Amino acid sequence: MDGFRYNSFAQEVIFALGALAQLSEVIGRFDWRRILLCTSRSIRANSQVDALETILGESLVAVFDQVQPHVQDVQVRVALALAAENNVDAVIGMGGGSPIGMAKAIGFQAHLPIIAIPTTYAGSEMTPVYGITHTDESPPRKVTVNDPQIVPTLVIYDPRLTLDLPPKLTASTGINALAHCIEALYSKTRNPLSTAAAVEGMRHVHNALLRCYQDGHNQEARTEMLLGAHLAGLSLASVSMGLHHGVCHVLGGSANIPHGIANGIILPHAIRFNAEVTAPQLLPAAEAMNISENGGNSTSVIKALALHIHELIGEMNLPQRLRDVGVNESDIPRLAQISFQNRTVQNNPKPITDVMQLEQLLKDAW
Ligand code: NAD
Repeated sequence: MDGFRYNSFAQEVIFALGALAQLSEVIGRFDWRRILLCTSRSIRANSQVDALETILGESLVAVFDQVQPHVQDVQVRVALALAAENNVDAVIGMGGGSPIGMAKAIGFQAHLPIIAIPTTYAGSEMTPVYGITHTDESPPRKVTVNDPQIVPTLVIYDPRLTLDLPPKLTASTGINALAHCIEALYSKTRNPLSTAAAVEGMRHVHNALLRCYQDGHNQEARTEMLLGAHLAGLSLASVSMGLHHGVCHVLGGSANIPHGIANGIILPHAIRFNAEVTAPQLLPAAEAMNISENGGNSTSVIKALALHIHELIGEMNLPQRLRDVGVNESDIPRLAQISFQNRTVQNNPKPITDVMQLEQLLKDAW
């Protein structure tokens, strides 16, 4: 057996239908009195933020509801100033990975406790990482910041908050959850806990994602899918990511492709690229998705897993080629070069020693 080494984090996690109502009890217990809420405009437009505002009452002293995808540095500066002006003592991120990433950036930089209330399956609420996009560079560049202090102190999972998540976002953020499990399984820093969470996360996502896509108001499927997303986020929390996440960060920061959409395009290619080196680690993932060896060798099983995921992505009508999301073929060498310099890409289990490996992968995905 290989040895292992990892950080585990102190977090309070509440998962239940209607869990949002439990927030006031926890806030009272922690004695948080001056709270900043980070969210996005479309989340604020629905009644879930109203419910949160009612629960928080006078403790909600400031709202930053302009969060854009990929957490831009200029926005972080504005929200930090808002936190300082209002003398806040805790910050809530409510929404997808972007508002939660914003809350993490504010909490980390201003030394405030972070509360995460996810409404997508991106899984950021469980991890000690946020990405921030430097907009003064050309093209803008997304970098990740990693520190145990970034992990949210409190996470509230309420499946009811996901019932209105549109089908496309259900699909794309669900594939993001699947990608967490895959990269946790073959991570160079995998450990018994990350592997167990990833396999179980795969199983739940496999059971629930398509059903959520087909019927967003299926409460039972939404609950199972959110559980899968939680386990996927947990699996990622204690490991380093690889090629897939690194390339998706480049496509997000430098080509402005939404994170979940980039995941849907790149994941089958990343699995195939890594198949020969990572097949033993990915076999439990194939089993969780009911793909058996059927006499083939383990690499062919993993290629079948990649095909199965590709078909699932197609069934949910997500874009499957970079050309479909505005990337020109002439952009590929530059994107490959940025990816080659990306720390996460360089953590890939199969060594990436030549930029042409990435150019080929991006060409295949184009
Ligand atoms: P997002 O947060 O950018 O949200 C996308 C859109 O979905 C927004 O318009 C938002 O308003 C809308 N939305 C969210 N929940 C909704 C709901 N319940 N109903 C209706 N609309 C809703 O997208 P995302 O995919 O959740 O997050 C992506 C970001 O998170 C990226 O920046 C990515 O890098 C980051 N991320 C970080 C981690 C981590 O561990 N740090 C993990 C995953 C993703």
